Amino acid sequence: MHYTSTEEKLMQEMWQMEIVDAHEHLPPEHVRTDATVDALTLFSHYTRTDLITAGMQAQDYDRMLNPEIPLEERWQIFRPHLDNIRYGSYARPAFIAAKEFYGFDDISDETYRPLSERMQYENTPGIYQRILRQKCHIRVALTQAGRTDYDDDLLVPLMPLDTYGMVASREDIEKKATRFNMEVRSLEDYLAVAREGVAQLKTEGSVGLKTASRPNAAVNRQAAEEIFESILAGEQGGNTQPLRDFLMHEMFEIAADLDMVVAVHTGMWGDFRTLDPKHFIPIFPQHPRTRFDVYHMGMPWVRETGVIGKNFPNVWLNICWCHIISQKMTCSALDEYIDMVPMNKIIGFGGDYGRPVEKVYGHLLMAIEDIAAVLGGRIDRGLMGFDEAVSIANKWLYENPKELYKLNI
Ligand SMILES: [Zn+2]
Repeated sequence: MHYTSTEEKLMQEMWQMEIVDAHEHLPPEHVRTDATVDALTLFSHYTRTDLITAGMQAQDYDRMLNPEIPLEERWQIFRPHLDNIRYGSYARPAFIAAKEFYGFDDISDETYRPLSERMQYENTPGIYQRILRQKCHIRVALTQAGRTDYDDDLLVPLMPLDTYGMVASREDIEKKATRFNMEVRSLEDYLAVAREGVAQLKTEGSVGLKTASRPNAAVNRQAAEEIFESILAGEQGGNTQPLRDFLMHEMFEIAADLDMVVAVHTGMWGDFRTLDPKHFIPIFPQHPRTRFDVYHMGMPWVRETGVIGKNFPNVWLNICWCHIISQKMTCSALDEYIDMVPMNKIIGFGGDYGRPVEKVYGHLLMAIEDIAAVLGGRIDRGLMGFDEAVSIANKWLYENPKELYKLNI
């Protein structure tokens, strides 16, 4: 990469900063060190989308990552697609990791074997500290792996809002109620259980609840009660949407009462029309005490998301995942956000990875490049001074997520 001299100076400043990584899917470290890793691990997670779209069969993707199949055979499954995906933003952190952590300039027919050996050799306790803390200067990483059993000072969990925001069956209700020695005879009783449950998640360290911007209807408590009672009576089937919508709104209030953040996935996956950030526009003003962290710029609705960030005091815009979806789209949108959104409402980085923890570094590098390009452009056009840009970068990468999530750091 070539940088302007302003970008280069800004990047140097950012590499000195402590970082709050505002979104990961990292499990406790032993999950990673107990697993067998190799060069193909670097093409797991998001890169799957590009491989499948390039033409790889889904079952071949699963075989590619199955350590019981010989590495050579798995490399041959992967190899035909490499040149089609290597220029994408999803793939770049894999190449950065190969170079920065393992000393290989490329991932190729010549290097995949020694790279795999090197990766397995380094896959030992302390790998999170070495990569996240020492290399990336990440003070804490907010993580969503559906668990709260973290025993270090590096990972801080968020849990799915549906943990208590959804009821699947009578057994599910009874199981949750028994956990707190409570009895559920009505929807009102269940709300008391949900409140206890979320309070317990908070005690276990969780700082927020995660949901997604899905289509939803105005709250109809009577319809929700009828559905709940039929589930409680052991009946199945029917449209449960009014109950889901009702519980979602209740969870937003519980989150506010417990001073927890509601993180909202928007955009990108599959039929992304069902994840349009605009589905939540009526919700934000209905819950003014609830703090919403809107993820992923609503890609591709980056501009609409910017307007959401401008208009609602209880909304933050979290740029997690975006830099590895498209650096170009992220930079143009971020520049527009500076025009529209106050600087304390933008959160600049979240790695968004699970097993391939070494890709967090490449993602952080790309985030730092993007922030330097956008702020550097403003400096070079005479719109802000260098020190002002450094202070804004520090807000996006550290102060804003620290303040939003009230992190004790
Ligand atoms: Zn994620």
